[in-house]
This record gives sequence, structure tokens and C-alpha cells, in this order.
Amino acid sequence: MTTKKLSARKALPVSHPNATAHLIVPPAGRALRFDDGWQYAPAPETTPVKIDAAYGLFIDGAFTATGRTFATINPATEAQLAQVTEATPADVDRAVAAARRAQEKVWGKMPGRERGKYLFRIARLIQEHARELAVLETMDGGKTIKESRDVDLPLVAAHFFYHAGWADKLDYAFPGRRPRPLGVAGQIIPWNFPLLMAAWKLAPALATGNTCVLKPAETTPLTALHLARIFQEADLPPGVVNILTGPGDVGAALVAHRGIDKIAFTGSTEVGKRIAATLAGTGKKLTLELGGKAANIVFDDAPIEQAVEGIVAGIYFNQGHVCCAGSRLLVQESIHGEIIRRLRDRIATLRVGDPLDKNTDIGAINSQPQLEKIRELVASGLAEGCELVQPACRLPKAGYFYPPSFFTGVTAAHRIAREEIFGPVLSVMTFRTAAEALERANNTPFGLSAGVWTDKGSKIFKMAAKLRAGVIWANTYNKFDPASPFGGYKESGYGREGGLHGLLPYVALN
Ligand code: NAP
Ligand code: MG
Repeated sequence: MTTKKLSARKALPVSHPNATAHLIVPPAGRALRFDDGWQYAPAPETTPVKIDAAYGLFIDGAFTATGRTFATINPATEAQLAQVTEATPADVDRAVAAARRAQEKVWGKMPGRERGKYLFRIARLIQEHARELAVLETMDGGKTIKESRDVDLPLVAAHFFYHAGWADKLDYAFPGRRPRPLGVAGQIIPWNFPLLMAAWKLAPALATGNTCVLKPAETTPLTALHLARIFQEADLPPGVVNILTGPGDVGAALVAHRGIDKIAFTGSTEVGKRIAATLAGTGKKLTLELGGKAANIVFDDAPIEQAVEGIVAGIYFNQGHVCCAGSRLLVQESIHGEIIRRLRDRIATLRVGDPLDKNTDIGAINSQPQLEKIRELVASGLAEGCELVQPACRLPKAGYFYPPSFFTGVTAAHRIAREEIFGPVLSVMTFRTAAEALERANNTPFGLSAGVWTDKGSKIFKMAAKLRAGVIWANTYNKFDPASPFGGYKESGYGREGGLHGLLPYVALN
């Protein structure tokens, strides 16, 4: 392998136009850099997926004719993938009515062991269609094929398997109580993990005997629609799951619908608050999985190399479009210099580009508005005097891309320390003592997740007891398991998804 001269790279423009941005030019001889075009051959995933020109809604076990449609695009190319139907209020009525019929006449009455068989069948069919669904997820949403193939799809199948196992054991889940389904659940999901969020919503609802009306996000509707085909293949009774595509208005209509017994929402804190206001006093049950601004805390006794990998996994996984992303890095002062140096070198090796390339680490930002939001917050960080560290990488000409970046010189008052950027941008701060780390970590309106890196088990327990966050990872980050409950405190929402706790929001108990 020869080493290409790196000096030309100095002339490359960074994606951010601000002149004060700090460009990194790796030392000559460092070979593993994206974008030089010689050290890795392209490794594109083939696309074994047939995308229809247009999709109807999935109501009462069948796809409707297409109505008024909108385009869903591939954010990595900006090319249109398909036209998708925008549900009307009449469609919401029909879907809710179908779900009600199915719940009362079929699904709610069915013995748990029979419901479980459907869920097992769906889980196995998801595994059979995993490659097709992973490719579709990557094309519609911009996440890398590496992640949709190795993280999203295995977890989607795992959620159905896990909840299939509960369907006939609910009496053991709630000993001494008689769990009953609530009825019809309205479920609204975001674009960052489209199929995984659908699985998080549908699997526990179905296992407990509820029926569902699901509203996917506007920019990523395709995998939910292909999941509907799997429901057909599994012979799931008509009306048990209905899928309504469209903009936020469709979600709002679902929330306000009188025929819904429960709303499960994952999305922004702003919309979550609006939903809570609409439902106040109606008696409908509500769970909210909202935003986050998690602290990833690294003590000076942590295994440094692992911690750096954990920092990278914490913020650059899924382009940083992760509600529980470790977006505030708190580093103990004595190791700040070393962490910054290692992190700077490490992000220079991350490959940004075609999400369908199996070697890509950072794919496309999900949409133009999201890219603009990231740029706007980065500009605010620069304007407030923080220093931006960004590798000098050439981004693809088409599509929405942003390089892995981090800010130093951040204080708790800066917007980039308080607001969710939801992109591959990390804010680095320091602390001296564990007490100071705790105070800084908890100094946020959010409370979804946190990370602790230290060699000392006792320190982990002490920190975990005092961190006000629903999920705390120790010496790892962004690990998920269907058996483990997930959810937030404060403005990160309420209710849990996954595990035994995740069944509770879908049952009434005598
Ligand atoms: P969002 O704007 O709140 O949208 C989420 C979903 O709600 C989408 O399907 C959206 O439809 C729909 N929606 C929009 N307005 C609505 C309304 N008034 N009533 C009912 N539904 C409405 O959030 P996002 O920007 O797509 O997602 C990013 C946010 O989700 C981040 O804040 C992130 O932290 C959070 N998130 C949280 C978790 C968690 O588990 N805590 C997981 C993932 C993401 P459209 O797509 O058509 O706008
Ligand atoms: Mg799309």
C-alpha cells in the first residue's frame, strides 16, 4: 500500500463556511483517511428491493388505492423513491374503526398463546426479509447499511420475538392481577429509527391484545409499508395493525380521535407537550418518548481507548440522530488534552458518504431541514466562541451530509450544551470532581440517558444512583435490548418501552 501525499488536502473546503473552524490535517503518513479514493475500494450493497411507484394506506388488512400523495426521497441522493399517500381525516376514521372491530371481535378475545404464534411468525418473516428491509431503511432515511443491517434489523426481529414470548405469560408478568388490553392504540413515530420504532410500538401492544393505528414519519414511511406486507404474509387478521402515512396533521388527528384508548408517541419534546395538552382530561393513556441531551462522563481512571470508542459510538452512531446520543461529553480535567487528541485523530478516520457502501461510518442527514438545524446550531456555537474541530473531508455533492465534529471550550450556558442538535456534533466540557460531574450532567431539562466511564465499580454505582436519566450505560454506550426498559425523566417524557415495564402502558389491571 502506498501513502498518498496529504498536503493537497489542506486546500479542501470544510463543509462549514465559518472561517474560524479548526481544520484538522492529519500528520503525513497517516493513511486511513476517507475520501482519498485509494485505500478502500467502494463496497456498495446491492439493492434487492422493489420499490413501488406509489403506495396506498394500509387499512383493515389491505392497501387502499393511492389518494393525494407526497414524495419520499433518498436523502443521500435527493432522488425520489416513491409517492406515498397522505391520509385524510376520513382515512383516520376508517383505520380506527377497523382497529376497534379487530380488537373486539378477534384480537382481544384470542388466547395469548395464539397471539404469540402470529408474533413469532412476524419475527421470523422479518428475519427472512431482513436484507431487503435494511436496504430500504438505508435508502429512505440515509442511515448506513452497516447500521440498518447489523443493528436496526436484528433489534426489530428481537422485539417481536421477545414480545411473542410474553403473549401467553401476561398473568405471570402481573402476578395476582388480571391484565386486560386497553383497546385501540394510536402510535406515532419519528424518522431516526423508522422500523425499530415501529417494532417498539407494535410488538408490546399486540402481545397484550391491543390493536394499532401507526403513523410513521413523513420522510421515512417505506419500511412500515413493507412491514404491512409482512403482516399480510403472516395472515395477521385484518384491522389488527393499520398504517397511515402523511404529515404531522395525521398524527394530530389520531391523537384527537375519540375512538383511540391510548397514544404512544416518540418524537420531539415540543410535539410531545402539545399531545399531552390535547389528551389532558380525556382519560386516554399516554406514553411519551421525547428528546435528550445526554452526558457521557469520562473519569481519569477510565480505559482511555475504550472510552474514545464509546464517545464515538455515543455521538456519531446513526449520524447523531439518536435521542439518547451522548451529545455532552464531560471529561475529567486531567485527561482532557489526551481525550481531545485521540478523538481528533479518531474522527479523521471515519468515512462519510454513500450510506449503501458497507464501509461507510456516517451516512446522510435525514432531511434538508435537519441539516439546516445542525448548521444553525453549529453556527451558534461558533458565534458564542466555542472552537469547532472537524476533519477536512470532501462531502458528496448531492444529498445531505455533515462531517463528524466536536466543539471544545463549551460551557453549560451555550446553546450547543443545552439544545438537542440531533446530528454528528459533540459538545465537550470538563469537570474536576464526581460531584461536579453529577451537577453538570443533571443540569438539563432532559433526562433520557447517560454514560459513565471509569475503572471503579463503586463509582459507577454512586453515579448511577444520582444521575437523573432513564438509561445509564457504564463503560459502553448505545446498547439496546428488548428485555431492557427504555424511557426518560423530565422533558424526555414518561413511560417505558421494552422489558416488563414496557408492557404496563398497554394493559389495564384489576
Ligand atoms: P417530531 O417532529 O416530534 O415528529 C415525530 C412524529 O410526530 C412524526 O411522525 C411527525 O410527523 C409527528 N407529528 C408532528 N407533529 C405532530 C402533531 N402535532 N401531532 C401528532 N404528531 C405529530 O420529531 P422528529 O423531529 O421527527 O424526531 C426527532 C425527535 O424525536 C428528537 O427530539 C428525538 O430526541 C426524539 N426521539 C426520541 C426517542 C425516544 O425514545 N425518547 C427516540 C427517537 C427520537 P412528520 O414526520 O410528518 O412531521
Ligand atoms: Mg425518505
